[in-house]
Amino acid sequence: MSTLKAVRGTRDLLPPETALWNRIEAIAREVFARYNFGEIRTPIFEDTSLFARGVGEETDIVSKEMFTWEDRSRAQSEKNQSLTLRPENTAGVVRAYIEHKLGESGQLQKLFYIGPQFRRERPQKGRYRQFSQIGAEVIGPPHAGSESPLRDAEVLEMLATLLDELGITGWTLEINSVGSSADRERYNQTLREALVPVVGQMCEDCQRRAVTNPLRVLDCKVPEDQPIIDALPKIVDSLDEDSKTHFAAVLAALDAAEVPYTRNHRLVRGLDYYTRTTFEFTHGGLGAQNALLGGGRYDGLSEAIGGPKAPGIGFAMGEDRLVLTLLAQQQAEPVKNDAYIAPLGDAKDQAALARMNAAALALARELRRAGLSVELGDGSFRLKKSFEAADKVARRIVILGEDELASGILTVKDFASGAQTKVPRAELAAILARPAGA
Ligand code: ATP
Ligand code: MG
Repeated sequence: MSTLKAVRGTRDLLPPETALWNRIEAIAREVFARYNFGEIRTPIFEDTSLFARGVGEETDIVSKEMFTWEDRSRAQSEKNQSLTLRPENTAGVVRAYIEHKLGESGQLQKLFYIGPQFRRERPQKGRYRQFSQIGAEVIGPPHAGSESPLRDAEVLEMLATLLDELGITGWTLEINSVGSSADRERYNQTLREALVPVVGQMCEDCQRRAVTNPLRVLDCKVPEDQPIIDALPKIVDSLDEDSKTHFAAVLAALDAAEVPYTRNHRLVRGLDYYTRTTFEFTHGGLGAQNALLGGGRYDGLSEAIGGPKAPGIGFAMGEDRLVLTLLAQQQAEPVKNDAYIAPLGDAKDQAALARMNAAALALARELRRAGLSVELGDGSFRLKKSFEAADKVARRIVILGEDELASGILTVKDFASGAQTKVPRAELAAILARPAGA
């Protein structure tokens, strides 16, 4: 029989790496709480049309990356429905905002999410078909202040803090403004004209984009095209006064908070309802998939999926890429347990063996309840085997034999210092809680 494997582009996360995932999520939750964000959990599948309208038919995500299926009705009264595994979470959050009339509170909604997303991409390092995003959205009616450039700057400052607290060093914030949809239309026209004399020397994709959506030319990765693209007019010169003022205010607030950034004139989002601020945090250690996160303003998104005017700004961070970055950065030593308890029994005496194992479980319970992490050996192990097993998983070994049980004085060996000491049971938890070697 052929063995079954995880589906292409999906993977199992195993210990000890899962500890790192949990640490990342715990830090993210803690930072979000300090910025007054609350958690939202939306379903992992939605009506396909949500993504068609909320992400955009023209995007790579919707045009070729979605896992979509026709869900058969179970009753005459039901219709078949086209469903899709969520490829991103912003559309779901905005749908929920509309469905639960969250805007009617008159308050800004500050929501974060952590969870799996699905895209049918070519799997490679940092790119999977099931991956996890940590993201947040600030959304609300205009009178709640949702259009303020302060919101953009606060989200960016929060991201800088989060990456710092996660221990990610050497990130770069790239930022741009794509203006209003009118600004973009103007810019597209400017680009179209500027491309006429040069497009003949560019790649085939660019020749097509120059006609259909000139803005997309800025995304081109073909090396020969880069000098041509760098010489094209910049979107910043097509922004109207309001968009210029907004962008200047975002940058001024970042300067005041001392969040470093780099202007990237080519960072654009091709969709109609993406507006003004767009950004990416990148990291050199990731190779080709160098984006840790992306985000921006989407002042027209709620209306695009049938909701009220609800300007917003948000981001989505690739958790898989955070893990890759941290693993490459720290070569982390696996965290060891505080203690390994080695019961010592007479392997030929079943009753004695059972007694020592039972005593070891009782001792482990005592120590674990005191907050220590403890691994438990087995009375049938020889002393040498116990020491080898303990050294792999714990900082100290506690020997529990008939004598120790009777006297209440236990033998503890510290692997870091090599020191072996006798410890009264009442003091054991306190000794084991000390750092290794102390
Ligand atoms: P990329 O240019 O890397 O394809 P994207 O523009 O498609 O990114 P977004 O839709 O903005 O990415 O998603 C935000 C973040 O989610 C990305 O910056 C990345 O860290 C992560 N991400 C996106 N797609 C994947 C994937 N297939 N596997 C792992 N992480 C991903
Ligand atoms: Mg992508």
